[in-house]
Amino acid sequence: MNSYAIKVYGCQMNVYDAERLRTAMAKEGFSEVSLEEKPDLVIFVTCSIREKAEQKVWSEIGRLDSQWRRKGAPKVAVIGCMAQRLGSKFMDRFKSVCLIAGPRNLGKVPEALSKVAKNEERVLLLDDPRELSDLDCPPLRRDNPWRAYITIAHGCDNFCTYCIVPFTRGRFRSRAPEEIFKEIDFLVADGVREIILLGQNVNSYGADFDSGYRFSNLLRDVASDERVDLVRFLTSHPKDFTEDIVDVMASNSKICPAINLPIQSGSDRILSLMNRGYTVEQYAKIVETIRNKLEEVAITSDLIVGFPGETEEDFNASVDALKRFRFDLVHTAAYSPREGTAGAKMKDQLSEEEKYRRLNIVNELQNKISYEINASLKGKKYKVLLDSLPPKGEGLLQGRTPTDKVVLVEGDPGLLGKFVEVSITEAEHWCLRGKLEKIIG
Ligand code: SAM
Ligand code: SF4
Repeated sequence: MNSYAIKVYGCQMNVYDAERLRTAMAKEGFSEVSLEEKPDLVIFVTCSIREKAEQKVWSEIGRLDSQWRRKGAPKVAVIGCMAQRLGSKFMDRFKSVCLIAGPRNLGKVPEALSKVAKNEERVLLLDDPRELSDLDCPPLRRDNPWRAYITIAHGCDNFCTYCIVPFTRGRFRSRAPEEIFKEIDFLVADGVREIILLGQNVNSYGADFDSGYRFSNLLRDVASDERVDLVRFLTSHPKDFTEDIVDVMASNSKICPAINLPIQSGSDRILSLMNRGYTVEQYAKIVETIRNKLEEVAITSDLIVGFPGETEEDFNASVDALKRFRFDLVHTAAYSPREGTAGAKMKDQLSEEEKYRRLNIVNELQNKISYEINASLKGKKYKVLLDSLPPKGEGLLQGRTPTDKVVLVEGDPGLLGKFVEVSITEAEHWCLRGKLEKIIG
């Protein structure tokens, strides 16, 4: 067994984990192929954030498993949050599953897969959430040659009552700055121009160090590296957001003025039940500071509708928050009860029908707001790094404005990896279209 395919579900951290795993698998002698090429092994990097994300993986593994019973291939490895949450259930249910590894065991996966490849052994790598065996391997096998993710902190200790992440990704631990800088050395040598710093709560970066070195210091130091052209980061937790972060952003034009600041609800009562640690007015103060200090800034957010006990009044408060803050984009979701979390045990769970009714209302409103904001940008000029081909649209190239809005322009694929000036000609609620004005380099 030496060929494998990999399927990645969920957040950017999973993309980052998969990229490092792909790099390590190449060193271990495995070759990556597509599913259609009938690999010996399929690796699933999984997400547990909502029931739907898990159902997709479960049914896909079921499909492969019935194939395995008939033809003897492929074997399946399950990595990530679902692996940590459901553990041996995968092995009990599917004969083809040969390895299960939670996110904090990634470092042991390549070697374990080599062993599994040679015999009929089945390996289960699920440890204490405080332990961490990370992959010491930069993400050199990326789909995007010019932009790269770097996780700056593992896990989360916030225990928002709806969220499974603290249970699957374990305790919060910041990565040492030297480790992050070393990874950047590899990435810039590999041609990367844009770095995206990742954490469930980047603002708490360094809270576990004695040195006093915090997120704003890291942000400043990464942006002052002359070899890096652009720096972005996500996610910012409102309860830990401090003004020094905005000050560093304002002082360095390489740090993109785009902040993902999840509000989750517009009702103080629900925010308290969610254990979020801030009120709507405290949230509003942060938004005010950000908008006062940064000239053109995009604020995006996350919102959950239908949390247990959410009344019509609470829901209307969330609708009002969308109208008040006019976010550039909002990742909306219907509440999905996750076994083991406090929210799943709460009374007054809403029906699926009611949750989706509320979801449709907020989506319709937010799409209108996002469209209005984007339409107001027509005629503006932005410096954009063209970094990929869009999934649809022949002859088009894709990049992002400094404010993290997707822009599509007509152009030659030879321009990929270059900064260009784009003037905005058309807007949709999720993206902009533009005209290429000049090549910057
Ligand atoms: N750490 C970030 C924060 O503090 O907001 C969010 C990370 S979480 C992995 C991504 C998003 O998934 C959350 O912002 C939330 O809106 C959504 N989410 C998490 N658990 C959920 C659940 N049980 N049901 C619906 N949406 C959920
Ligand atoms: Fe989940 Fe809350 Fe941690 Fe974000 S801060 S990962 S929502 S527990």
